[in-house]
Amino acid sequence: MEKVTVVGAGFMGTGIAQVCAQAGYDAVLMDVNQEALTNATAGIRWSLKKFASKGMLRESVQTVMDRIVIADNLSKAADSHWVIEAAFEDQGLKKRLFGELDRLVSEDAILASNTSSIPITQLAKATRRPERIVGLHFFGPVPFMALVEVVRGERTSDKVFEKGVRFVKSLGKTPLKVHKDIPGFVMNRIFGAAFRECVDLVAEGIASPEDIDIGMRLGYGWNIGPFEIADNAGLDTFARVGAAMADLGEEHLVAKSDLITQMVREGRLGKKVGHGFYRYTKDGKKIT
Ligand code: NAD
Repeated sequence: MEKVTVVGAGFMGTGIAQVCAQAGYDAVLMDVNQEALTNATAGIRWSLKKFASKGMLRESVQTVMDRIVIADNLSKAADSHWVIEAAFEDQGLKKRLFGELDRLVSEDAILASNTSSIPITQLAKATRRPERIVGLHFFGPVPFMALVEVVRGERTSDKVFEKGVRFVKSLGKTPLKVHKDIPGFVMNRIFGAAFRECVDLVAEGIASPEDIDIGMRLGYGWNIGPFEIADNAGLDTFARVGAAMADLGEEHLVAKSDLITQMVREGRLGKKVGHGFYRYTKDGKKIT
């Protein structure tokens, strides 16, 4: 069975490792933060139990858990067929990781990034295998969200791009093929344009987050409002993605107001800490 290493055991990396293991891949989940690894293990077990209780798991929770190895360094990644990087949205950090992974894994392995905004071509420049680098942009929470953008860097080979598409399908997800490598790809450019406006409307006191979320649900048929999406994703991650987009010259997709950075400064990081645009109970239920 093929082996996948996921680098970064935060909100996204944890979900990616889980769906890989559920699909039968051996998975290594690596993070430099021990607390993240402890939370990831507990989070995956909790999520698998939920799936099992609803009859949505083909195997036992333990069988899936046994396919996941937790690691605090990259040495266990060496014999991976796939590496999916899901560390903080920071171009310098991601390039360092790609350089290190390129030296470590076999030349046949494919290196992918779950970046929200940074062009794959930039990350590929940190390696000697730009044709084997591809974007795999998952949506969170990964076990529930069916979409993955597959992003072709300027030098990604046709074969690797198609392998990326097949890999996504093997996880039971639906690929959206992105043929040109631009900051934010497709989905985050569209969401960024809408969310920028939402944040500025709130910052200017024109409407509340609650009312805008209701508006997007009832008026435009979204399943979940933009501020609920932001709380789920983590406002610290949103702040990093906004900064990365601005650095990449895409200021028009970033709110003018600094509301999100202010909230991050106040520790209002979203659902994971119980307070973002909304408040949450300990088990993550929105308090209405
Ligand atoms: P997160 O903050 O929850 O997790 C990031 C993890 O990376 C942390 O646990 C951190 O300890 C780890 N990390 C930092 N440096 C590392 C290193 N050198 N080696 C290994 N691990 C390291 O962030 P997240 O929301 O999981 O986002 C991760 C990536 O996925 C980002 O690039 C983000 O833009 C992207 N993304 C996020 C979402 C979302 O909804 N949150 C959606 C799609 C893509």
